Amino acid sequence: MHQLTLAEIARGLADKKFSSEELTKVLLARITQLDPQLNSFISLTEELALEQAKAADVRRANGESGALLGAPIAHKDLFCTQGIRTSCGSKMLDNFKAPYDATVVSKLAAAGTVTLGKTNMDEFAMGSANESSWYGAVKNPWNLEHVPGGSSGGSAAAVAARLLPAATATDTGGSIRQPAAFTNLTGLKPTYGRVSRWGMIAYASSLDQGGPLARTAEDCAILLQGMAGFDPNDSTSIDEPVPDYAAGLNGSLQGLRIGVPKEYFGAGLDPRIADLIQNSIKELQKLGAVIKEISLPNMQHAIPAYYVIAPAEASSNLSRFDGVRFGHRCEDPKNLEDLYKRSRGEGFGAEVQRRIMVGAYALSAGYYDAYYLKAQKIRRLVKNDFMTAFNEVDIILGPTTPNPAWKLGAKNSDPVAAYLEDVYTITANLAGLPGLSMPAGFVDGLPVGVQLLAPYFQEGRLLNVAHQYQLHTDWHTRTPTGF
Ligand code: GLN
Repeated sequence: MHQLTLAEIARGLADKKFSSEELTKVLLARITQLDPQLNSFISLTEELALEQAKAADVRRANGESGALLGAPIAHKDLFCTQGIRTSCGSKMLDNFKAPYDATVVSKLAAAGTVTLGKTNMDEFAMGSANESSWYGAVKNPWNLEHVPGGSSGGSAAAVAARLLPAATATDTGGSIRQPAAFTNLTGLKPTYGRVSRWGMIAYASSLDQGGPLARTAEDCAILLQGMAGFDPNDSTSIDEPVPDYAAGLNGSLQGLRIGVPKEYFGAGLDPRIADLIQNSIKELQKLGAVIKEISLPNMQHAIPAYYVIAPAEASSNLSRFDGVRFGHRCEDPKNLEDLYKRSRGEGFGAEVQRRIMVGAYALSAGYYDAYYLKAQKIRRLVKNDFMTAFNEVDIILGPTTPNPAWKLGAKNSDPVAAYLEDVYTITANLAGLPGLSMPAGFVDGLPVGVQLLAPYFQEGRLLNVAHQYQLHTDWHTRTPTGF
């Protein structure tokens, strides 16, 4: 039963082949048995899950239907869940029980999902390897000596290991797409404003966006349907109708114009990944797509700009964790300053402290113009590049990452080496565009992802292309040995 996708689960529940309660019990047992190898969960919510599963079964018995009614999922541990620890992967919030549900959580619960637990993540979503979590590193089910990607590494490892069919995640600079690529999943970062950020603990507010991680594009469509939509509680949420994503999956790709940026294939890209991307281009050509070489000339400036803007916003967002209102508080503070310093010094890990310092520096008087303002100008150039490209093409295609998943610990002593791995993903966040990563093959037994980007609010187009690709390839069906 654990091999079923969300779409198959919906059919099985509708046909009364099994109940949500039965399925939930199977998955909870599987998590207990297998997760010690992966460390993909921070909290399990067995009681809540069984309660929600029973309630979903009753709703179905009363004639209700819905693709998510009775579907087991998990939430990345930065979505607030009422009365349940919401740690953000940090010692700072180890004792924090959210007083309310994030909009994503309440919307999905209303659709009938069953929450199995909260997944591990890089501390405050800062990282690309899921090694900065206070709860320990997550392992990649494809090779337990390798990282699963980050920051949504727990969601990715759990779904890839068939502990559950899908999970929520967030993407500030690639944290849905990169772990999807590293674990052979399909992950979608929606347009900025498509999914509510209310109750999603902020890292860099102008870049953060929640989205689905699943095995197939079809399942991403199902989960996104439950997450997307206008939320008056989030002032950056956009009041744009949500299309029927599942209904759009079957469109033909005949004549689809795919742009392939020449800058994506420079030095730094593993040539074996380049070959796999070429293969995926050929597959899409067979389906009727037309390929066009394009240029994104400002891409080279994106990493430095992102690593100024994201820490700047983080330094401001994380100032609320001061030991006074919530989170970790040091023992016996001598005075207010001591309280702030020791609570923050003890509660935040090294990477978070580094980002706060970089961000505070970039925003400080005298440096603001040189760093922050400059970075914002680059951000506009990056966006303009995309706008120009989308005048000529319908989607942009390239690798999700320059290399496959690295070994645990391999980049711990050199944070910049890890930052450079984000080269293909962060531009979509800077521009606010939707992006999807889907399985494209393997290098040394490790999965590789191909990334698709589309114009604003064209999530449906990305899902359509990915679904058609997945009808003609079988990379996404491969299962890691041992799971
Ligand atoms: N790796 C990037 C960072 O560390 C992106 C993380 C994310 O998308 N949350 O900031």
